[in-house]
Amino acid sequence: METIDWKNLGFGYSKADYNVRSWYRNGQWGEIEVTTDEHVTMHIGATCLHYGQESFEGIKAFRGQDGKIRVFRMDENAKRMQRSAQGIMLAEVPTSLFIDAVKKVVKLNEAFVPPFDSGASLYIRPLLIGTGPQIGVKPAEEYLFTIIVMPVGPYFKEGFKATDLVIYREYDRAAPLGTGKIKVGGNYAASMVAGQRAHQEGFSAVLYLDAREKKYIDECGPANFFAIKGNSYVTPRSESILPSITNMSLRQLAADMGMKIEERQIPVEELSEFDEVGACGTAAVISPIKRIYDADHDKEYLYGSEPGKVSVQLYEKLQGIQYGLEPDPYNWTTIIE
Ligand SMILES: *Cc1c(COP(=O)(O)O)cnc(C)c1O
Repeated sequence: METIDWKNLGFGYSKADYNVRSWYRNGQWGEIEVTTDEHVTMHIGATCLHYGQESFEGIKAFRGQDGKIRVFRMDENAKRMQRSAQGIMLAEVPTSLFIDAVKKVVKLNEAFVPPFDSGASLYIRPLLIGTGPQIGVKPAEEYLFTIIVMPVGPYFKEGFKATDLVIYREYDRAAPLGTGKIKVGGNYAASMVAGQRAHQEGFSAVLYLDAREKKYIDECGPANFFAIKGNSYVTPRSESILPSITNMSLRQLAADMGMKIEERQIPVEELSEFDEVGACGTAAVISPIKRIYDADHDKEYLYGSEPGKVSVQLYEKLQGIQYGLEPDPYNWTTIIE
């Protein structure tokens, strides 16, 4: 194996030694297969290609100071992938198969889990696709569940750094009663135009408003939104956002710190009343926001260029659990033996 420059990893694909696969055929899941092949052969009429029958997950494994590898809350990813499967009629992956496959692929690729002091981690990407052919619009009869892994750098190379978000009202990533609450590729395809424009205009991401009324905050393209207001942790309640496992964990940690948790609609104007705002997800844990620009009203909300005190506290607490530096009272991590 070539030596990996752990300190300079970005967030992108690189080949690990192995990936694992299980095929769903004739109404049942097969054994977990191990392969070094980066390609998948499937029917040219596969439903994932024609009708977007696809769901994915994102999980991380961390190497602790004690040398042990910890995977964070994968049981929640398993459940979420089952909800995604129900939402777009994929064959459901049982939790036991999901967890066995994660354990197996991490163990096989142990050499790709970055060392503790690099700040990097192993990104685990489960994928579930309809591989059987259909030209009439209906679910496939054959599915592939596969997991690839790759080492990724810390999200913020120069350390925990605040970024800018932008609000545009002319794009939606998901419809109010559509697929926003499940983790499917279609939502990401739908967010690329706005995301690209945001990057070109100097923002890290788009902050979407609710698609029905454009009155309330929904979430960022790939991350949930939260705010700190006095002693409250505030995060949107909406039918069209993806229930982030990071957000769920931060709510628990904030409650444990004695904060009040408010899951409710957040009107856009309330952005002027928050002390700290951030985006949260597996990739960055917390991405603090220093400015939100409302492009349609040429109005900006400023939060200071340094990450807020509570955001930093929450970030350190969660990363501490992930790297095994802090007690894990809720058994969020699984050690890979
Ligand atoms: C995956 C994802 C998130 C973050 O979820 P985590 O479980 O915290 O990684 C947030 N929003 C969207 C749209 C997502 O797809």
